[in-house]
Amino acid sequence: MQPLIKAKNLNFVYNKGKDNEFQALININLEIYPEEYIIFFGPSGCGKSTLLNVISGLETPDEGIIIVAEKDLTKMNAKEFAQYHREKIGMIFQAYNLINSLSVLDNVALPQVFLNIGKKEREKKSFELLERFGIIKQAKKIPMELSGGQQQRIGIARSIVNNPDIILADEPIGNLDSVSAKNVLEILKDLNEKEKKTIILVTHNPENLAFGDRIFYMKDGMIVRETVNRDRHKLRAGQSEIIKKAPTAEIEDLMRAYQGLTQEQINVIIMPYKAKLFAHHFITNRNMEEEKVFEEIIYRKLLNTISHEQFLETLNRPYQEGGVGFDRRTAENITRRINRKIRMAFYLYRKGHQRKDEQAGHKKITDEEKSEKLTYYLLNTCYRDYYNDLDKTAMERIKQAVEERLFRGLSKVDFYNFLDKPFKEGGVGLNSKTVRNITEELELILVLGYGMAQRIQNKSEFLSPAGKLSAGKLAIAQKIRFR
Ligand code: ADP
Ligand code: MG
Repeated sequence: MQPLIKAKNLNFVYNKGKDNEFQALININLEIYPEEYIIFFGPSGCGKSTLLNVISGLETPDEGIIIVAEKDLTKMNAKEFAQYHREKIGMIFQAYNLINSLSVLDNVALPQVFLNIGKKEREKKSFELLERFGIIKQAKKIPMELSGGQQQRIGIARSIVNNPDIILADEPIGNLDSVSAKNVLEILKDLNEKEKKTIILVTHNPENLAFGDRIFYMKDGMIVRETVNRDRHKLRAGQSEIIKKAPTAEIEDLMRAYQGLTQEQINVIIMPYKAKLFAHHFITNRNMEEEKVFEEIIYRKLLNTISHEQFLETLNRPYQEGGVGFDRRTAENITRRINRKIRMAFYLYRKGHQRKDEQAGHKKITDEEKSEKLTYYLLNTCYRDYYNDLDKTAMERIKQAVEERLFRGLSKVDFYNFLDKPFKEGGVGLNSKTVRNITEELELILVLGYGMAQRIQNKSEFLSPAGKLSAGKLAIAQKIRFR
């Protein structure tokens, strides 16, 4: 299959020949296929917007080729370019870029004007989209009168009113609260899955990475790495290929994108993400406010800036009074479970840890021992009731799979499949729900532990009340906010 978008050796320089010359893109090569959901990810200033603008044809590369829908953008004349822009591409921006002297309806309808579509038709199509995105009541208002989330939905409606194949979204949720952000991401996902739009989302927030089929990691004007969540292109071509990933490949990728920072610093950066993941593990059907408080205190717990008592108290406090609203016993139970997970994650990642018991002398803990302990932990946590009935061979196989996942790059999917596969066929044959729980629990532990051992010298310090964070770490933690 032909790529829909193809870039070859792209180079782009701002202010060429002047004092402030700046090379924003360096030798970019990429191929994007129809109906893919692509993410450009990387720190601010790495060139994401520039690359998006080259793809949209708004900027012309100094060197290299950019082909979209079999057309070389650099060779288009003005008329072809205008047509390309109106019909093939829809753009969504962080700052919405709406026209405040026009009504909401007219903002959405505007791109159709250039296609010579009559007023009646234009308004009909626009009303449909406003209805679909839940802003039809605001049709006659001006954009400024609407909330950020609503304004971005106008932006999305406008971007698809001419039914383009490709949607380019540059940090579309950067200005939104978490509820609106989720809503916008759902809309994009729908446009990709149901309407088969090819999407390129630009983001610097690792929480969004799961939405993409493929992720291009950018740094200093280059694509430094590509990862694959779903290989739609290959799947469709019938060559299903399992992509092997190291256990925490996603996190390793983050590290590469933040080259120059230590693992410890990255740990602090991804802490909000860890906290979110962690909190989500416990509450899935609570309201957003409670969830936010919960995330916040887990975040503080991971940073070790909240005492055991404060933590418990906040979990227990009614949510009208700013707590999470768990009853006392649940709060205690959750605290216990959280501590267990943290301890397990810590054990796993701790480097050079030595056994203290005398018989063992002072030997380092082996991979096998780690895997065994984790296996017991997983079964204990996810398989309590049947734990003792489990066949010895099955147990051995689980341990094997855990070890492979931890140390030998078995992918999450393969791990899942192995546990799910019937025992007779060489798998473990657990029921699917248990398999899912075990797989997710393992992922949580892996993400949780990442960078942890570097930061905290010993477990007792970590689990002790009110630890201290060095000024440097705190500065990083405060500077980098995901929401
Ligand atoms: P990102 O979208 O990843 O934050 P950009 O593509 O906006 O990054 O910018 C990449 C680099 O190019 C940055 O270092 C930025 O300062 C620089 N840059 C962007 N626009 C211009 C411009 N108009 N003139 C000069 N430099 C620019
Ligand atoms: Mg940008």
